[in-house]
Amino acid sequence: VSGPAPPPPRPRGRRTAARRAAARAGSPCPPAIALDPPDTRRIRELCRWWDRHARDLPWRRRRDGYTALVAEAMLQQTQVSRVVGAFDAFLARFPTIRHLAAADEQMVLAAWDGLGYYRRARHLHRAARTVVEEFGGIVPRDAADLRRLPGVGRYTAGAIASLVYGRPEPILDGNVQRVLARWHCDDAAPQSAAARRRAWARSAALAASAPRPAALNEALMELGATICTPRAPRCEACPVAALCLARRRGRTAAIPPPRIRGRRTTVHHHAVIMERRGRVLLERRGERGLWAGLWQPPTIEGPAHLAAPDLATALAAAGLKVTGLRHVSSFTHLTTHRHVLVHVHVAATRIRRGSWLGRDELLRVAMSSAHRRALAVATPRAASPRRPPRPRRARSLGS
Ligand code: SF4
Repeated sequence: VSGPAPPPPRPRGRRTAARRAAARAGSPCPPAIALDPPDTRRIRELCRWWDRHARDLPWRRRRDGYTALVAEAMLQQTQVSRVVGAFDAFLARFPTIRHLAAADEQMVLAAWDGLGYYRRARHLHRAARTVVEEFGGIVPRDAADLRRLPGVGRYTAGAIASLVYGRPEPILDGNVQRVLARWHCDDAAPQSAAARRRAWARSAALAASAPRPAALNEALMELGATICTPRAPRCEACPVAALCLARRRGRTAAIPPPRIRGRRTTVHHHAVIMERRGRVLLERRGERGLWAGLWQPPTIEGPAHLAAPDLATALAAAGLKVTGLRHVSSFTHLTTHRHVLVHVHVAATRIRRGSWLGRDELLRVAMSSAHRRALAVATPRAASPRRPPRPRRARSLGS
């Protein structure tokens, strides 16, 4: 990491209007920031803070290589509150890495239901198979070996190696990068290669000097998730406040700078729901692209909205003759890169071939939340779980 330019000397004399405005906006960060030599006393304090303030989360109660692999896969791009419910259910279904490796991919995708980004589930499944085939069923301890597993990048490898096996490996997720950027008053765009390089170097320097690398990394993540939040960080409760350059310079609100997002592409999905004798016709999506390999009601998709006659023609061209085509509702579903407008239709067909699924089967197959919602809109009975039978009144054994 390049050395810092020393902070500019403080101008003397009367304040000009420009200087007063600059003071109100907070002092600028220096153009390049040095790594302070890690202060082990502060690192110990940070670890003690973690000991006292760690949230009770299911993956922290049972820490081993397998559970860490599952938790890290789920926590990428999904909020903690959603993962909390899904984590125990997934482990109940696949209690060990061997159970997961032996499972059929569709079972794994179905167990991932509600978490989105199904590619992570596929990677996790393949990673489990690699662990069983190449590492004797034991999740490797070494970050370099971990990175040989599908879907495991530098962050996940560092997290498992440090949190489970206590190795002094760095980690860097969005929360940790924000904490380190504020700590060092680094106001570069977090996506830039230079900012990420500096953040990795800072994380590595901390991990290398931490007496307890697991506690340090947990503390950094916890700090970003609960105190040093994107908006309104609670600096008064922060264990590294005394070190934090952004706080000292009044720059916490400006770091990180707002992200400039690319425009989302708009795509129209015309989902056609056909129900016969309590069964609904489904098809599987292709193996590539959005929601690859998931199930859905027959869907015509494209860049434009189709009126009913054009939709009927498109369905016929796809080998699906329907009658009584009727639009029920439309809604918008956002993905990272797309604005998906889902138009829900119902129709009848005489076609018998294809996958006609009953209510229980519908709940077991892997489906995007958008298509599950489309089903629920058109066939609320078929898409909702069966009610458990009413408990019978217990007969009195007494008088
Ligand atoms: S002092 Fe404030 S801005 Fe600095 S690391 Fe702590 S919470 Fe974040």
